[in-house]
Amino acid sequence: MSCTAYIGLGSNIEKPISQLLSALDALDSHPRISLKAVSSFYRNPPMGPQDQPDFVNAVVEIETDLEPEALLDTLIGIEDAHGRERNGKRWGPRTLDLDLLAYGEEIIETERLTVPHPGIPTRSFVLKPMAEIAPHLVLPGMGSVQHLLEDCDTYWMDAIRDEPELR
Ligand code: ATP
Ligand code: MG
Ligand code: MG
Repeated sequence: MSCTAYIGLGSNIEKPISQLLSALDALDSHPRISLKAVSSFYRNPPMGPQDQPDFVNAVVEIETDLEPEALLDTLIGIEDAHGRERNGKRWGPRTLDLDLLAYGEEIIETERLTVPHPGIPTRSFVLKPMAEIAPHLVLPGMGSVQHLLEDCDTYWMDAIRDEPELR
């Protein structure tokens, strides 16, 4: 059975825009994933530690027949292929972060996976791009993306047009 899922992408080192474009290629070329919609890329201040570069964020809608844990493994594999380092520093700089935001209407609470992603309601850097491609999507236990965005402190910056230093 195939399912609609949403992935949040983020990068703030080593050419963030290129990292996101390459991650989109990796998702698109996976035999069990098809890309359905891609948001604009947004530039955002970092969450947590402030002594790091701004992030570039986007959200994609995919269709997949991978089960949630297998999809998570795939996302981690793509992060690793993009040089993601896991040094224990929470919310530190990273070449690529791929978070599973939603998987159909499922609520998942396992050791490795919490879905919908618990950060969504407070993260405008997720809600803004998500609202661009799925404003009416209702996240189980959270409400619609558009309503969540309206209730969220909005500190996102504009969609990126041409920012050479981020390419
Ligand atoms: P945050 O999840 O708050 O954005 P992060 O993205 O920096 O933080 P990571 O280091 O990328 O966190 O992931 C740590 C672990 O989070 C992963 O190994 C994974 O098992 C777990 N995890 C739980 N729920 C999810 C989810 N919905 N999407 C991605 N990872 C998740
Ligand atoms: Mg994250
Ligand atoms: Mg992550």
